[in-house]
Amino acid sequence: MITAVFGDALLDPATAELTPRAVVLIEDGIVSARGPRSQVTVPKDAGVIDGEGLTLLPGLIDAHVHLRSRGNGRDLGEMLQTPPSLWVLNAVPAARATLEAGFTAVRDAGGTPAGVKLAIERGLFPGPRMQVAVTALSQTGGHTDQHFACGISLSPQLPDVPSSVVDGVEPMRQRVREVIRAGADWIKLCTSGGVLSPNDSPHHATLTVDEIRAAVEEAAAQGRQVMAHAQANAGIKNALRAGVASIEHGIWLDGDAIEMMLDGGRALVPTLVAPLWVIRHAEQGRMPKWAADKGRAVFEDHKASIRLAIEAQVRIAFGTDTGVGPHGSNGEEFLLLRELGMSPADCLRAATTVAAEVVGWKGRAGTLEPGAWGDLIGVPGNPLDDLELVARPDNVHLVVQGGEVRKDRR
Ligand SMILES: [Zn+2]
Repeated sequence: MITAVFGDALLDPATAELTPRAVVLIEDGIVSARGPRSQVTVPKDAGVIDGEGLTLLPGLIDAHVHLRSRGNGRDLGEMLQTPPSLWVLNAVPAARATLEAGFTAVRDAGGTPAGVKLAIERGLFPGPRMQVAVTALSQTGGHTDQHFACGISLSPQLPDVPSSVVDGVEPMRQRVREVIRAGADWIKLCTSGGVLSPNDSPHHATLTVDEIRAAVEEAAAQGRQVMAHAQANAGIKNALRAGVASIEHGIWLDGDAIEMMLDGGRALVPTLVAPLWVIRHAEQGRMPKWAADKGRAVFEDHKASIRLAIEAQVRIAFGTDTGVGPHGSNGEEFLLLRELGMSPADCLRAATTVAAEVVGWKGRAGTLEPGAWGDLIGVPGNPLDDLELVARPDNVHLVVQGGEVRKDRR
């Protein structure tokens, strides 16, 4: 099965080059050729997707989402009355909204069981290609310990999601093995406190370097890497010392932390929109006061930290923490990255070539070179001239995944 996608132009994020009057050939879901129409021979029996008026570019990648979370704020009463099966089904509309916003591949940073990824792969419902962390591990009282002062824990108990709370080196080894057994592609650790957790502070480091190192070793033994929710400066440095591959959020980077990141070529996934959505939800009365206060307190520091990282040319992969904010709103992160000094070309690379390298999809996603998945989007203009074209889901007119049309709103 061969499909030819025609566009007014084709944008290669790697080089920022624009090819006018372009075509992408997709054969059995994989790109077989791409370039100007004058140079690509389109077989007579090829199916045609006409992207007239559109600039084509590779499908976007979000390296930090939570498809199982609704993204409409945190209502503790509602959480108490949500059965775990309903929590999982939240991922169905979330996956569709993400895909229709142009994000054809994501790394889920915890909370979403592997069954969601398998269901999408089997075509049960539309969604992005996924890598999943299954759960995010933290220490007792840490970021994913949703134990409240009254004694109730608000973590939904799913049979194929191991407990997120773990203390000590040997228990960490066993838990990482359990998370991998549950289908995890990535191991997610919380090496600092966070905003949406009742018992900790984003300023404090959590888990010891030895605990983190044990997780990194166990992950590596089975071909996985570790991503660290790391906001506190000490938590960032502990994670880097122990060998994690990516720092998520990175609210308090300093010169030393940036040196450590540059040294190992480690990636930073800023998720700048996340605290913004905590504040927005709080304004709508859908956020507990302690979380709203923490979100407001970190917002400006977060921006200053990411600005430093951009200036130092730290490797930045696009990620949004969507699930805090609404699914499909992912593209707003582009505008925040640009506001902090990132060029439009680097913004697009963060969500294509760089994210693909970081997540482990180099050559498959974030590019339309032959051999890549046939995942592309079409927007009415060049996003390098106007990032709004990828920032707003309505501007993403065409979404193709594996050569199949997933959205065509013309
Ligand atoms: Zn997250």
